Amino acid sequence: MDKIKMTTPLVEMDGDEMTRILWKMIKDELILPYVDLKTEYYDLGLENRNATDDQVTVDSANATLKYGVAVKCATITPNAARMDEYKLKKMWKSPNGTIRAMLDGTVFRAPIIVKGIEPCVRNWKQPITLARHAYGDVYKNVEIQVPNKGKAELVFTDEDGNETRETIHEFDGPGIIQGVHNTNKSITSFARACLSYAVATKQDIWFATKDTISKKYDHTFKDIFEEIYNNEFKQQFEELGIEYFYTLIDDAVARVMKSKGGFIWACKNYDGDVMSDMVSSAFGSLAMMTSVLVSPSGVYEYEAAHGTVQRHYYKHLKGEETSTNSVATIFAWTGALRKRGELDKIDELCAFADRLEKATLYTIESGKMTKDLALITSLNDVKVLNSKEFIEAIRANM
Ligand code: NAP
Ligand code: MG
Repeated sequence: MDKIKMTTPLVEMDGDEMTRILWKMIKDELILPYVDLKTEYYDLGLENRNATDDQVTVDSANATLKYGVAVKCATITPNAARMDEYKLKKMWKSPNGTIRAMLDGTVFRAPIIVKGIEPCVRNWKQPITLARHAYGDVYKNVEIQVPNKGKAELVFTDEDGNETRETIHEFDGPGIIQGVHNTNKSITSFARACLSYAVATKQDIWFATKDTISKKYDHTFKDIFEEIYNNEFKQQFEELGIEYFYTLIDDAVARVMKSKGGFIWACKNYDGDVMSDMVSSAFGSLAMMTSVLVSPSGVYEYEAAHGTVQRHYYKHLKGEETSTNSVATIFAWTGALRKRGELDKIDELCAFADRLEKATLYTIESGKMTKDLALITSLNDVKVLNSKEFIEAIRANM
């Protein structure tokens, strides 16, 4: 069989620990035998980030902006313990944070649905994709503990020194105050990223705030989404037969629970924090969750939603057997290959990505899985495989 040819390279960002081990196995067993893989390789493993003063992370993000599609392995975000472990020159910043800031993106996370791992919510038949705004609100707040009687005011001073004032509250005893903000620029790129992703994945998109109570703050989110939708996306949505649906956040929660799934749920920062944990745990496991960073200009970076699985890596180093789930990392590769195929019009590459995903799901559905899934599956006669055997079983099925 001839290998599938690629025209534009994928930006490949290698990573750390157990996921770095899985990365190589996935490439060797599931991709290189079938695809004449073209990548521009960046080693984001902590040792190389340290050796290059983290320049490699910046270079990989620039390459992503140049080529449009990247696939990233999980990476260590250093803390004090890692400083010693890796003898680091500096406590380097989170690579995801650096890349996200350069791509100005929004993160979309969707569960991977497979028979035998049933969502706790019985009527959810299709994945619900969470799109979380990752700037501002309570995550950039300023707070004051009010000691006693007094007046709290909100003051904005413009460049010329003109003040706008609002009384927050006349305190007659101790209390608390919080100041939060967001910017039209950030909300606008969030709206664009969400609506572009709905078009790219041909799914309806829901957005919700509490605009009835917050008539300026939340209402601005609603207005910006509506404006961007009407001016830039309405026609494409109508052509694709998909819908932009706005409602109040409490109504959205009620409707999500009763829905069949199969849509994108765009959330303000706090709502996204809370709701993504609810949605992902209701669907099963972090290792069964895809994650893609999408920039408003249409640049894509695919990754797994979980970390480097450190505990398994230390077992692996001691020569002990591991049963680490590689599904999310495989789906990062298939997501990136499919996107590359779409952009370069290489149908065989898209078909290959579909086939690899199908084989992965079929392997689990036929009762062969890693330990994390074996613990929660509703299937009988399950065979628990180690990290390598699971990937080999997928290859056999493919
Ligand atoms: P983690 O790698 O997500 O793993 C936490 C635990 O979840 C594991 O010990 C394991 O539980 C389970 N788990 C996660 N992924 C699994 C998989 N694929 N298969 C089977 N079980 C899985 O989080 P962590 O151990 O707290 O973090 C390790 C490193 O990852 C840290 O240095 C952190 O900075 C980094 N991190 C990176 C990213 C990223 O690059 N996107 C994201 C998060 C964290 P059991 O041990 O019970 O089996
Ligand atoms: Mg959280």
